[in-house]
Amino acid sequence: DRLLTEFGEADDKTFYGAQFDLGLARIDFPPGHGGLGGEPKLQEIVDTALEPIGRRGNWMRNAIGIGMCGPTIAARGTEEQKSRFLRPIFTAEEVWCQLFSEPGQGWSVANATLMNERVSIGGNVAPRGSGAIGRAVEVWKARADHEPVLRERLAGLWIEAEVLRLGNMRAQSLRQAGVPGPQGSLLKLGDAELGQRIVNFIVDLLGAHGMLSPGYEVGRDRDIERNDPIIAFLSSQATTIAGGTSQIMRNIIGERVLGLPREPGLDPNTPWSQIPRNT
Ligand SMILES: Cc1cc2nc3c(=O)[nH]c(=O)nc-3n(C[C@H](O)[C@H](O)[C@H](O)COP(=O)(O)OP(=O)(O)OC[C@H]3O[C@@H](n4cnc5c(N)ncnc54)[C@H](O)[C@@H]3O)c2cc1C
Repeated sequence: DRLLTEFGEADDKTFYGAQFDLGLARIDFPPGHGGLGGEPKLQEIVDTALEPIGRRGNWMRNAIGIGMCGPTIAARGTEEQKSRFLRPIFTAEEVWCQLFSEPGQGWSVANATLMNERVSIGGNVAPRGSGAIGRAVEVWKARADHEPVLRERLAGLWIEAEVLRLGNMRAQSLRQAGVPGPQGSLLKLGDAELGQRIVNFIVDLLGAHGMLSPGYEVGRDRDIERNDPIIAFLSSQATTIAGGTSQIMRNIIGERVLGLPREPGLDPNTPWSQIPRNT
């Protein structure tokens, strides 16, 4: 309540700074570093309260910083690193990118970052019927004819989107504080593959209009990217590659969630420098 009443009208930097200082940036982060050391599922209460003022889930302003590097620092960083980096990451005063190297603990840091990346790509709990499936319903309603075959496809996709959304809510409430586990790969895989099928369906619904793109320049604008179905269709092709391909997600799920035997290959403890590569 204090955040909303005292800072609701403030500019982004002040508002998100206050959210961080009150421990409401990521409830599961340690006190003094943007959190309250609480259970991750409590974050949903904060995010829901911020929704009416359009400040739910600010992570797109600094996706790699907030979604991946910040949580990695919170889990593996020193106190000094947490104090120095976490607040400006959350307020997006410092925007991060990611690159990996191997000074000693390289693999564990890379692993923590990638687990966070998959949860941040796939694990967002959006309101029911929003996002790509919401757009599909709008395009469907705008159509003159309502063919039963297309209606059945829409209903099927809507049900799958809702199952995935409920799965994300469940995963969020089960998640313990710290680094997310390999289960995040399930969310990432489901989100990427279902997302592609939904935007493919939207383009089918648009018929010949589905061949008209608003232009590449507007694709650099995040709002248009989210709202324009053709741009969303084009950019969705990257979602089954970035953050780990769908094949790799299936390998992780098979080996680390279901406990199936590993694919034949190198000992996973082999340092990067000793991995054979083409020259
Ligand atoms: C839009 C976008 C943004 C990105 N952003 C970043 C970023 O910010 N930082 C960053 O570090 N990287 C980034 N990437 C790179 C991304 O992480 C890699 O492209 C991705 O992990 C796949 O690796 P690769 O391209 O080397 O493909 P490869 O590993 O060469 O894979 C090629 C094909 O072989 C399959 N394959 C490979 N190994 C196996 C296996 N063991 N079992 C089964 N199939 C296999 C793959 O699924 C794929 O189909 C980005 C990529 C995209 C498309």
